[in-house]
Amino acid sequence: MKCGIVGLPNIGKSTLFNLLSNSNKALSENFPFCTIEPNYGITNVPDKRLYELKKIINPMKVIPYKIKIVDIAGLIKGSHKGDGLGNKFLSHIRETNVIIHMIRFFDDASVLHMEGSINPIRDKEILDLELQLKDFETIEKILKRNKNINNKSSMLLKKIISFLEKGKNIRMFPFKKNEKEYIKDLHLLTVKPVIYVCNVKNENEKENHSSMIKKIGEKEKSKTIVLSLKKESKKNYFINTESGINKLIKEAYKLLNLKTFFTIGKEEICGWAIPNNYTAYQASSIIHTDFKKGFLFAEVVHYKDFIQHESLEKAKKEGKMFLSGKNSILQDGDIIHFRFKK
Ligand code: GDP
Repeated sequence: MKCGIVGLPNIGKSTLFNLLSNSNKALSENFPFCTIEPNYGITNVPDKRLYELKKIINPMKVIPYKIKIVDIAGLIKGSHKGDGLGNKFLSHIRETNVIIHMIRFFDDASVLHMEGSINPIRDKEILDLELQLKDFETIEKILKRNKNINNKSSMLLKKIISFLEKGKNIRMFPFKKNEKEYIKDLHLLTVKPVIYVCNVKNENEKENHSSMIKKIGEKEKSKTIVLSLKKESKKNYFINTESGINKLIKEAYKLLNLKTFFTIGKEEICGWAIPNNYTAYQASSIIHTDFKKGFLFAEVVHYKDFIQHESLEKAKKEGKMFLSGKNSILQDGDIIHFRFKK
C-alpha cells in the first residue's frame, strides 16, 4: 500500500517526503528536476492507542505501523507527452493507492515557480489536466487495441472519455458497483483517491486563503489539508498528534482502507495494518509465515476492554476475551494473541 506525492516542481514535495520518512534520499534543492527516480520511504502512522497501551504495559519497544510513501518528482505542463521526463513520472503514479497532491501557496522569491507566479487553482488544474490527458490516452489505447471489447465496457469507457473531456477527474464518475471492479484493473490515475495539501507560508494565514482552499477539494469531496512545511519541520510531529503532518498521515491511512490490530508483550507492543476485510488467519501471516502455517485460533480482546481491565488475564476473567477462528474478520483495535502449532 503506497501513497504518492505529486505536484509541480518547487512546491515542497521532497521537503514533505523527507519529513514523513526522515530520509535524506530526496535532494531538496532549488531546481526543477533534481529528483528523477521516485524516492521510496516509509512513515509511522501516529496512533494514540499505542501510547495508552505503552502506559499500561511499559514494554521495551513500541513499534507503530507504517505506510509507504513515494516522492514523484517533476510533473510539469506537457508531462503526458513526455515533457520533463513526465511519462516516466506518470507511470510511477500507477503504482500508488492514494495520491497526495501538493499545491504551493507560499510566496518566496528565492524559490523559483515554474509558471512564474503563485496561483494555486491554476497549478492544481495544470496537474489535473496532465493526469486526465494520460487517462484519456490510456483509455483510447484500450479501445483501439481491443476491438472486440464487449459492448458494455466500451460504452462505459466512451462515457468516461466524455467525462474527462469536461475536465473532470474520474474519481467523480458515478460508477455502478460492477463497473468499479472493471475500472480497477485499468490502472487509471484520476480514479485514485486524493488528498490535497496546501503548503502555505504561515498557518495563521489560512483565513486569507480560505476561499481558494475551500475550492480545491470541494467539487470532488476530497479532503484538503493546510500546512506550512517550513514550520512543520520544526515540530516534533510524532508527539503533536494535531500537527498538519499527522492529520495528513491519518487521512492517507483512512483512504487506504486499512484497519489496525495490536500485539502486546513485555518486550514490544506493535501496531499492524491490514486490509479491512482480513480475517485473523490472514492477519497472522503478516507477522510470520509460521503463524499462518500452524494457525489454530486467535485470542482477541478489544482495545477498550483491555484499557478498562489493564491486562489480558483480567479481561478474560470478565468475559471480554473471545476466540477467533480461521474465518472471523478482525475489528479495528483488536488486541490479538495468535495460537499456532509449532
Ligand atoms: P519539490 O521540487 O516540490 O520537491 O520541492 P522541494 O521540497 O525540493 O522544495 C524546493 C525549495 O522550496 C527548497 O529550497 C525548499 O526549502 C523550499 N520550500 C519548501 N517548502 C517551503 C515552504 O513551505 N516555504 C518556503 N519559503 N520554502 C519552502
